[in-house]
Amino acid sequence: MKAVVYDGPRQVSVKDVPDAKIERPTDVLVRITAANICGSDLHMYEGRTDFETGRWFGHENLGEVVEVGSGVDKVRVGDRVVIPFNVACGHCKNCERGLTNYCLTAQPDPAMAGAAYGFADMGPWAGGQAELLRVPWGDFNCLRLGEDSVERENDYVMLADIFPTGYHATEMAGVSPGDQTVIYGAGPVGLMAALSATIRGASKVMVVDRHPDRLRLAESIGAIAIDDSKVDPVEAVLEQTMGLGADNGCECVGYQAHDPSGNEHANDTLNKLVRSVRFTGTIGMVGVFVPQDPGAADALAKKGQVAFDFGLFWFKGQHMGSGQAPIKRYNRALRDLIAAGKAEPSFIVSHQLPLDGAPDAYTHFDARDDGWTKVVLKP
Ligand code: NAD
Ligand code: ZN
Repeated sequence: MKAVVYDGPRQVSVKDVPDAKIERPTDVLVRITAANICGSDLHMYEGRTDFETGRWFGHENLGEVVEVGSGVDKVRVGDRVVIPFNVACGHCKNCERGLTNYCLTAQPDPAMAGAAYGFADMGPWAGGQAELLRVPWGDFNCLRLGEDSVERENDYVMLADIFPTGYHATEMAGVSPGDQTVIYGAGPVGLMAALSATIRGASKVMVVDRHPDRLRLAESIGAIAIDDSKVDPVEAVLEQTMGLGADNGCECVGYQAHDPSGNEHANDTLNKLVRSVRFTGTIGMVGVFVPQDPGAADALAKKGQVAFDFGLFWFKGQHMGSGQAPIKRYNRALRDLIAAGKAEPSFIVSHQLPLDGAPDAYTHFDARDDGWTKVVLKP
């Protein structure tokens, strides 16, 4: 089969690799029809994680089931399914509590928790930017879709990661009807958080970024765009909220190699959030911070440090939630909102390309080139 193989920092190529296949009775084999490129792939693409050359990315996957193992009894050949990026067993201590983002079985390193397809430090699982994907614990990890999933594939594929992730940011931030919410980042994840805040009834959604094309997309769903290359975003949020600050906020930026301040590790978004959100407000943080310490002894030590004004956070009595999103907690409800015509997350899709288009797409998406907001690969 063909896959988008990682050849080294900022280099991928489409190559023939061994076909994915059923390896255990609980596996499901999916022929991928849509696989997104994600901002999370860039942490590996840019070479700051330990992703091995010869492996391939792809954790935002949708496709058709072509084979099931003998122990699979819910999912059937021919089903169209979307697959949460978290690989989860469904029966460990964390999965039982709904924390599929921190599965203890799918992650082979006993010092770690959480697994994903095509990811550094997240288990051995192959990615879906390929023609076929092996889905372990297939009954648990596949969400079945309706007949409209062919026509509306670009909406449903967002359920694999970024729509539930954006929703999780607003859940951790406690966005409630009438709230004024600020979101740092108008990348795909930030735009999904903005959509989610609107769904949850926020009265005002403010989105901070510096790319006009992305800010226009935020405005297209009714958010207020704040261009931090032109104004101080904290001042702008205070102006929008009668000087009080937003009720809550979401961090959807994470590590940015291209940050013009040169402050790659902190990007200062966390500190700006603490200043943008009111006293006792809440922050949901889904942006990934992966500064790598090359001298670190193990995977956990490499996760690094981020400069954070803890004193101000404490003084304001704020709360914060963080981490990988538990996709399964939200994807069924969000699927049904899409099916009912009440959410159209595909508004962010800028390009849909065959696998061969991936090397070029990675270059443009990584550079945040104008108009390259979200790429869906169609193997
Ligand atoms: P992205 O990098 O395309 O989007 C980030 C956006 O932030 C860009 O538009 C960039 O211009 C903007 N930005 C940069 N510096 C900024 C600043 N100081 N203030 C405001 N905006 C700023 O990527 P994405 O796909 O939207 O992903 C965003 C983050 O979410 C990444 O770190 C990704 O790894 C992470 N992520 C986390 C989860 C999770 O489960 N927690 C899931 C998916 C993605
Ligand atoms: Zn993703």
